[in-house]
Amino acid sequence: MEKEITGVMVYYYQVCHRKLWYFYHEIQMEQNSDQVKIGKLLDENAYSRDDKHINIDNVINIDYIRTKKVLHELKKSRKIEEASILQVKYYLYYLLKKGAIGITAKIDYPLLKQSVEVSLSEEDVVEIEKILANITKIIKEEIPPPFRKMAICKACAYHDLCFI
Ligand code: SF4
Repeated sequence: MEKEITGVMVYYYQVCHRKLWYFYHEIQMEQNSDQVKIGKLLDENAYSRDDKHINIDNVINIDYIRTKKVLHELKKSRKIEEASILQVKYYLYYLLKKGAIGITAKIDYPLLKQSVEVSLSEEDVVEIEKILANITKIIKEEIPPPFRKMAICKACAYHDLCFI
């Protein structure tokens, strides 16, 4: 059965197509990653007064919503901000398709005490639809996309798999 394209998959698409393929094919090594442990710790301790983890259709997983029309995504660093923004735009896109109009978002960096506002433009909608088509193409491949060494590989949970 075909799985839905989730927010995490959109994030991985922006980070590395090979990572996206591994993730989709359930080669999951993230639980061993220290980076993920830090993320979980941060998530448990930040913004404890808010409603957290609003899962919609197992496709998008909103970290928390503070006011009615603003959803929040927690990140620990601004290193891969482009991917975080795309992930959150996908949340807004998904909600828009479900009829939720006028929603905006914020990416919060509690460790940096910063946040970035995100909204969805008409151009974003066109771009996201192109990206979703690309994601479908990548995950349907029999083998992962070719390995390309990048700075982020050092912190990637699939590092050992790619650098054998
Ligand atoms: S180690 Fe590098 S190439 Fe391999 S999946 Fe991770 S980011 Fe992609």
